[in-house]
Amino acid sequence: MLPEYVKRIDLPTPYPVGAVSVYYFADADTVIDIGYYQRDSIKLLNDLGIKPEKTRVLATHGHDDHIGIAKQIRFSQLLLSKVDARWLGYSYPGRRIVEKNLLMLGVPNFYMQQLIDMLERIFSHLRLPEYKPVSEGSVFELNGKTLITIGSAGHTPGSISYFLKSEGILFAGDAVLADITSNPGTIFVVSSPLGIYDFNPIKNYLGTLDKIESINPTMIAGSHGRFVRNPKERIRELRSSYIERIDKTYRMLKAGPLSVYEVARKIFSNHKPSDDLLLQLCEAMSYLYYLKNIRLIVQDGLKWCAL
Ligand SMILES: [Zn+2]
Repeated sequence: MLPEYVKRIDLPTPYPVGAVSVYYFADADTVIDIGYYQRDSIKLLNDLGIKPEKTRVLATHGHDDHIGIAKQIRFSQLLLSKVDARWLGYSYPGRRIVEKNLLMLGVPNFYMQQLIDMLERIFSHLRLPEYKPVSEGSVFELNGKTLITIGSAGHTPGSISYFLKSEGILFAGDAVLADITSNPGTIFVVSSPLGIYDFNPIKNYLGTLDKIESINPTMIAGSHGRFVRNPKERIRELRSSYIERIDKTYRMLKAGPLSVYEVARKIFSNHKPSDDLLLQLCEAMSYLYYLKNIRLIVQDGLKWCAL
């Protein structure tokens, strides 16, 4: 359970993930995340007495369901990691380059227009609001309670968790959730159309799981769904599912070279490509970059091959 001085507020989002949870420390005029920009949410926050001009927002990461409102309305302070601020500042490279990069991932022509439309929509929402950088180890005093910042890269490269040490509660954003996985590699949504690949989300994410395990929270309050009441067990479960997918990707490539698209479709064979092809491609890229980094595979044009 949360202590009485922290309120959880569930706000709607337009995404399949459903509501996003915002954590409100009323005594300290501070919220962890602020939610997606839509009228119902703003009214609800208003009704709860959350006034932008006196409220500090501690962002877990730069996705719109977490900081969208702070991109439209100025809060007294927005704390965000510099790394996430960087990609929020990317601009759309243009259709010709996007199409060329998607072809390099092996995306068939049939899905090209759909992906380009989706990327154009995502890029049109990118905007970097005024912010103060927050980094690992920053400490926030909230009316006598201490929140410690824990770098939690993976889902995005600059993801941050906030640890309320006195209660053993970790506010982990999307880093560890009870019912769904963290989808490391969402960074490729905005970096791959630009041809930027200097990320290794799975490696970072496995490091994040080790780090969270070592601080040993008694409960994890994430941004979507139920609380994680068995952090140790959930972390073990997540770690082994990612290691299994890394192995699976390697075994697939041992059987023959594949493009990113082909790897994605084999990993997510139980999803339709139209469901969430962009995220499937991102996660496939995450496995490929992990394996490339430990020199088990190489890229040869469109295809990836085991060594
Ligand atoms: Zn997210």
